[in-house]
Amino acid sequence: MKKHVCIIYTGGTIGMMPTDDGYAPNPSAFPELLDKIHDISLPDFPSYEVICLSRLLDSSDITFREWNEIGRVIRDRYEDFDGFVVLHGTDTMAYSASAMSFMLEGLDKAVVFTGSQIPLCRMRSDGTDNLVTSMLVAASGEVREVCLYFGGQLMRGNRVTKISADDLEAFSSPNYPRLAEIGTAIVYRKKFLSQGSSDKFRLFELNEAPIAVIKMFPGFQPRLLESVLAGGARGVVLEAFGAGNIPNGKELEPVLLAARERGTVIVVTSQCGKGNVSLGAYAASSYLTRTGAVSGHDMTTEAAVTKLYYLFTKYSDTETIKALMESDLAGEISLDYK
Ligand code: ASP
Repeated sequence: MKKHVCIIYTGGTIGMMPTDDGYAPNPSAFPELLDKIHDISLPDFPSYEVICLSRLLDSSDITFREWNEIGRVIRDRYEDFDGFVVLHGTDTMAYSASAMSFMLEGLDKAVVFTGSQIPLCRMRSDGTDNLVTSMLVAASGEVREVCLYFGGQLMRGNRVTKISADDLEAFSSPNYPRLAEIGTAIVYRKKFLSQGSSDKFRLFELNEAPIAVIKMFPGFQPRLLESVLAGGARGVVLEAFGAGNIPNGKELEPVLLAARERGTVIVVTSQCGKGNVSLGAYAASSYLTRTGAVSGHDMTTEAAVTKLYYLFTKYSDTETIKALMESDLAGEISLDYK
């Protein structure tokens, strides 16, 4: 029987049309753009239905509200489709894919995020292959998790980061292998794919949360972090150097200790992208261990931010949230990192 896939169109370059102010999403032009893709009319192509978000966005404007809306579409139509393709702008796609990986609890179907660098309405659009291959992945029955297909690579959604504003290979998954070899055939790499879940599928919706991301650099002044913390941040992702090292640890320590007293959760990720945070490996990170900061291990900053949203919505106890930040909830972290 023909597989049935739901396309959720959220905005982004893939469906944008030229306007006097530059490219912008256009819901009424979108079905026509799809009709022009040759493969869609082939007999083996899955049947599909398109659902547009209530407000199509440049993805730089995405918030937890749109994540909840995408989640509700999937929840309400979960049994009607074999899989889901989310068309999304590239700028924040890694955040949205990470968020959905936590929110879609008990997921046992494919949710494939994709988009393009060149709009479908233009020559040489990478949107054609990105969309067609994502549809085939969503219909395959092989994938039971949130993933992202882009530029010939199928990757776990909460492991990706955007690495290029111009290349057609715009995303990378620095700490987790690709989920398939995509060549003349699509060969799934089963040992890296999630086994899915036998739990009942449910959507966990997110609330707003005061989260900050602070990137370390030579000459970083701890008093500036103090003002972020005094401004009410409940969670801070500290993008440290290398294996989790920070400058000016002696001065930062009292600021972080005061933050701990207030119940703020500090998570340390690495600016390197590839590799693991190992707090205490160097004296330059030992201050952090003493202040109760938690290691993000090999998590992307995108996964750390969205995991904080998820945990702040779900739990109120700080120690529980800290312990779960260091645990693997949806394949976002490697605890056996070598
Ligand atoms: N600014 C666009 C967006 O993220 C870029 C893109 O789609 O590639 O919505």
